[in-house]
Amino acid sequence: MSRPLEPLQPATLTFDDEGTPRSSLFDDRYHSCEGPLAQAQFVFLGGNGLPERWAGRERFVVLETGFGLGLNFLATWRAWRDDPSRCTRLHFVSIEKHPVAQYDLATYYQRALPQDMSDMAQRLVERWPLAVAGVHRIEFDGGRVVLTLAFGEADALLPQLALRANALYLDGFSPARNPDMWSERICRHLKRLSADDVTLATWTVSAALRRALAEHSFVTEKRLGLKPKRDMLTGALHPQAQAAALRHRPQAGTPRRVAVIGAGLAGCALAERLAARGIEVVLIERHAEPAQEASGNSAGVLRPMVARDDSFAARFSRAAFLHASNHLRRLDGEGRPLKWGPTGVMQIAQDAEQEQMQHALWASHALPDALVRHLSDWEMTRRVGYTVPRGGWWFPRGAWVNPPSLCEANLERAGDALTRLFSSEAIGLAHDGATWQVSAGDRTLVSADAVVLANASDAAALSPLALPLIRIRGQVTRLPRALLPQLHVTLCCDGYLCPTPDGDLNLGASFDVGDEDVSVRGDSHAGNLARLERLLPDTVLMPDVRKLTGRVAFRTATPDRMPLIGALPGQPGLYAFTGLGSRGLVWSPLGAEVLTARLCGDPMPVENELASAIAPARFFAPG
Ligand SMILES: Cc1cc2nc3c(=O)[nH]c(=O)nc-3n(C[C@H](O)[C@H](O)[C@H](O)COP(=O)(O)OP(=O)(O)OC[C@H]3O[C@@H](n4cnc5c(N)ncnc54)[C@H](O)[C@@H]3O)c2cc1C
Repeated sequence: MSRPLEPLQPATLTFDDEGTPRSSLFDDRYHSCEGPLAQAQFVFLGGNGLPERWAGRERFVVLETGFGLGLNFLATWRAWRDDPSRCTRLHFVSIEKHPVAQYDLATYYQRALPQDMSDMAQRLVERWPLAVAGVHRIEFDGGRVVLTLAFGEADALLPQLALRANALYLDGFSPARNPDMWSERICRHLKRLSADDVTLATWTVSAALRRALAEHSFVTEKRLGLKPKRDMLTGALHPQAQAAALRHRPQAGTPRRVAVIGAGLAGCALAERLAARGIEVVLIERHAEPAQEASGNSAGVLRPMVARDDSFAARFSRAAFLHASNHLRRLDGEGRPLKWGPTGVMQIAQDAEQEQMQHALWASHALPDALVRHLSDWEMTRRVGYTVPRGGWWFPRGAWVNPPSLCEANLERAGDALTRLFSSEAIGLAHDGATWQVSAGDRTLVSADAVVLANASDAAALSPLALPLIRIRGQVTRLPRALLPQLHVTLCCDGYLCPTPDGDLNLGASFDVGDEDVSVRGDSHAGNLARLERLLPDTVLMPDVRKLTGRVAFRTATPDRMPLIGALPGQPGLYAFTGLGSRGLVWSPLGAEVLTARLCGDPMPVENELASAIAPARFFAPG
């Protein structure tokens, strides 16, 4: 399903005479005149019985309507840091229709927050997402504080969330100025997202809100408010609704040990995520090293997919691209062995009609310039250093990446929680009613609470269900750097040309459905050179095909070209992470986050409709 690509309208921050920040869109204050943190502390933390209620828990989930300036988040994070009995992992999920610009956030924090919060504020500003609609996930304090920001309309986004909240912070602008945020429908969604022990707090005691909450099984109570307000509101689910929520509590806990089959981009990304959640991971790979098959090319391209109709593919790819580029920056910042070049990516239009569409989409301001801009042929030529035939899109956050080094960086980050069971081919899978056994002939390789098939098209051989996987041959051509000595950006059209870690260039790639030939062929080189000619028509002295080298590998795709990420229906504890097609670099980090959230019962990092669009269940009608 698709919908038109719609821009987010960012908030514009102004200050009143007392220096309190205001939203000009709602003509209302962002916080009470008692100071930036007083309301967060008194109403939201105090009203929800925090920090006491999270003591000793494995996970605590706060759901907030209205992120605003992030003051409730920062106050909650500080309370969590200061509390020796804190929960192991704090999830803070918040919805915001008009995100504040990064610069405004930084300026405001500098003038308003106490010194002891400057470190937290700075981290939030550094990781502040681009103003792109949808869900963004950011981690702090080694992944123990997880902020999930959903940018867009609360009414549209709440039904798209999957989580069980232990505390609700209702903090929109006043019901008189922003009634949509306090409606009966919002209260209905909040009930669906509540755990049995949920509590709520808000600074307003509006009669309409109390009625709407009561209609959806919340019992509320007026309490002494924070000056100048006389009252505030707290609440919990009615005992009957609590009992119903308890019945819907997921039975299975977080698995202690997970076997992941396949050490390509998918398996390595997942191993890192699971290990970060403290889960023991056994990674089974038939080769002696990771990334020997599809993930073994010397370089590939990381870029989003932008489409006028904003299909599920475009939305998932955009979210995945932003997530991947943050993940790569984190790995790089930690000094992991990642080889990549954040050069930006230029996607040259294939013809005049496509260029017109690209220009129109950019000019509609549906997406921020920091994600995609249109450049004319002249601007492209200037940046590329060689003449390009047309203008097109410029993705400033795009990059070339060496996939094997990304695999290794993820495995290094997984640390001691990871066992590498390499040079071992998984041949069989069996479930004994409690655990899964992965075997090689009559030898059990590993017993685990859950198994993830991250072994590309070979997942079909192990899966009890018939997985609809398609293999597509791809050959890349290696070009000597001397051919284009000035090229330092990554270029795409119907093919791509990018730098590699050793200085040469990678030209890709053939797309041969139903072709199982593993040898490097002259006709595939010729096809790639034709792609190069379309990228840089006047510039390149074409090399002799007979002297070229290259590499062949096989993409694994699905009939609808979306990945296969999620539980296999009717097979408790068995999951697939495959079908990454030509987008493994882009899709694997977010795919791993989605699957880990699924395995652990954490809040989902994507909208429900995107999770369904990638779930294996879409290919299996309920029996
Ligand atoms: C020519 C080409 C160019 C590409 N260019 C790009 C690009 O520019 N950008 C981009 O984002 N993506 C690109 N891709 C796609 C990307 O490379 C893939 O999507 C990605 O590598 C898939 O990763 P994977 O982990 O699913 O599969 P793989 O990397 O194939 O990993 C699967 C692993 O499972 C192992 N395995 C299989 N069966 C078993 C078993 N029974 N027991 C144990 N181990 C097993 C295999 O040995 C393998 O290591 C390209 C792909 C090709 C072929």
